[in-house]
Amino acid sequence: MLSRREFLRGMLAGGTLLLAGERVFAASGRTLYCPILMYHYVSTPPNTANATLRDLAVVPELFAAQLDHLAEQGYQTVTMTTLYRALLGEALLPAKPCVLTFDDGHWDAMAIATPNLLAREMVGTFYVVKNFIGAPDKLSWGHVQEMARLGMEIGCHSAAHVNLTQLTYRQQLDDIARASDAIAEHIDSYPRTFCYPFGLHNRSTRRILRQLGYQTAVTTSHSTLHHRENRLVLGRVRVRGGMSPEALVRLLT
Ligand SMILES: [Zn+2]
Repeated sequence: MLSRREFLRGMLAGGTLLLAGERVFAASGRTLYCPILMYHYVSTPPNTANATLRDLAVVPELFAAQLDHLAEQGYQTVTMTTLYRALLGEALLPAKPCVLTFDDGHWDAMAIATPNLLAREMVGTFYVVKNFIGAPDKLSWGHVQEMARLGMEIGCHSAAHVNLTQLTYRQQLDDIARASDAIAEHIDSYPRTFCYPFGLHNRSTRRILRQLGYQTAVTTSHSTLHHRENRLVLGRVRVRGGMSPEALVRLLT
């Protein structure tokens, strides 16, 4: 239930809101500003790393500086669940919201990202790949459980991390359902946000996500504005290795 003040703020935020019993609904969809940052590694790449890997890796000191600068600039982190509720008109976002997402379930999600977020009272959304869990340099199920316990949001990034558009409907359903069930078994809550491997999806993928009860899904295309009609194709902001905190914040405006 929204307080009267929150309700009025929602009205001022641009949506025409209807009060229906105890709940408030947005009568028409709103476009919301909420950059969804896309991280992969937040650790120092090995000396043998190629250019692609280096581009995906933000070293820990730079990651910490980026978080500090985001906070200094007034950004407040929210989860994908909160963004979803805001898109439906059921929640309000802070004035400068952002979602921090981390793809692929690398070991540094637990060892580096999570403590840095907790130290700043921030939250992150971690998209894990079922078949990667427990592999060398990846998270274990124990890590995933601990991160969920610490308040981090766990999303699904498929079971096999393949191009889903090359699979049949049945194969896609099998992959996504297996990954979702495994997450649900380990953290006692079914994932509600999905990340398409390589950002690729088709009508079958989106239909399966709706059938399985997914609320949101993210791609790799660039956007900072979202609408509830687009909630299964939400664009993100790619954070590149070596990107200064100032350059990052400039990308968000
Ligand atoms: Zn991935």
